[in-house]
Amino acid sequence: MLGNFLTLTGNVNIMITKAYGAAAAHRPLEPLGIERRDAGPDDVVIEIAYCGVCHSDLHTVRGEWGGTLFPCVPGHEIVGMVSAVGSAVTRFASGDVVGVGCMVDSCRACEACEAGLEQFCSTGMTGTYNSPTPDAPGHTLGGYADRIVVDQAFVLAIRHPREHLAAVAPLLCAGITTWSPLRHWQAGPGKRVGVVGIGGLGHMGIKLARALGAHVTGFTTSPEKRQAILDLGAHDVVVSIDKAAMKAARESLDLIINTVSHSHNLDPFIAALKRDGTMVMVGAPETSHPSPAIFPMLGRRRSLAGSMIGGIAETQEMLDFCAERGVVADIEMIRMDGIEDAYARMLKGDVRYRFVIDSKTV
Ligand code: NAP
Ligand code: ZN
Ligand code: ZN
Repeated sequence: MLGNFLTLTGNVNIMITKAYGAAAAHRPLEPLGIERRDAGPDDVVIEIAYCGVCHSDLHTVRGEWGGTLFPCVPGHEIVGMVSAVGSAVTRFASGDVVGVGCMVDSCRACEACEAGLEQFCSTGMTGTYNSPTPDAPGHTLGGYADRIVVDQAFVLAIRHPREHLAAVAPLLCAGITTWSPLRHWQAGPGKRVGVVGIGGLGHMGIKLARALGAHVTGFTTSPEKRQAILDLGAHDVVVSIDKAAMKAARESLDLIINTVSHSHNLDPFIAALKRDGTMVMVGAPETSHPSPAIFPMLGRRRSLAGSMIGGIAETQEMLDFCAERGVVADIEMIRMDGIEDAYARMLKGDVRYRFVIDSKTV
């Protein structure tokens, strides 16, 4: 089989994989040798080609949300090639181009799993990193690595041309996290959609809302992004720190996808919703937002909602839609040892629009 094996007493085969992770929240990421399980009957062994860098990686590895298990190897926007499959694998074969997003398992029996909404599994889905697992070291280790082993039920088929593969990686989180609420709240022709925070998630939100046929408004704190946001497909751009511009945007939108990674005042965005409009929160800041004012919500029957990634079937639906339409992320490729600089730039909002790690450099 693949890779370097250490045969331990009891004949347990362990694959040693190159990875990059942190030993503690205050420590920089550094090279690590990690263990991946040998392929079980339902497993797919994937040689990772590229991995996107999500702001959730940064929140987690820095311990911003609490509960980070160390060593922490982030990364849940994984694309690569299948190099081996277990004896019961029917959906994939060696040489296939595949992706892995934010989940690698769930109970598969609860109401949410039955409905294809594994992200809301009642016993808790298994995240690609930072979730309990029987594998060493007792929690999952993600895609900042050169290989991963994943059950076929959580592996996605990639149908884009191979030369687009690096730019497909961000679809596995940034893409599905914006696609799922756009579909659930029925973005499409005749609907006016706002996207707040034009980073990794936000730029995919604009591309996908536009591709679905909605009228799209980008809200940014960065006036210098205006032209770039129009180039992504927005029909108009509102600089959200400009009070007059926010006033002019009042009662104009059916749906807002809010991707901002920091605590902020929600009131001006709620005011931008029409009657019966909904703002869906997908950003997950370290410190929560101040409670919005209630009367503007009552007076227009507006809703504030949340959404988390998306199910496996809808992730495949989104990938296939993007392959058909030629939709990919706008990326900046980095070497693995450039991750600390990438995080520093991400914190300054200096990303156009997703860093992607070239996994050959892990
Ligand atoms: P990102 O690339 O860093 O983009 C975040 C954007 O938010 C920035 O580019 C910036 O856009 C805006 N922003 C940043 N600081 C701000 C501030 N202080 N005030 C106002 N706007 C600010 O991050 P990302 O990877 O897209 O992730 C965004 C958030 O979504 C993170 O919290 C992440 O953990 C979360 N997330 C949630 C899910 C889910 O399932 N719900 C999935 C993935 C990620 P402008 O310059 O345009 O203002
Ligand atoms: Zn993510
Ligand atoms: Zn379940």
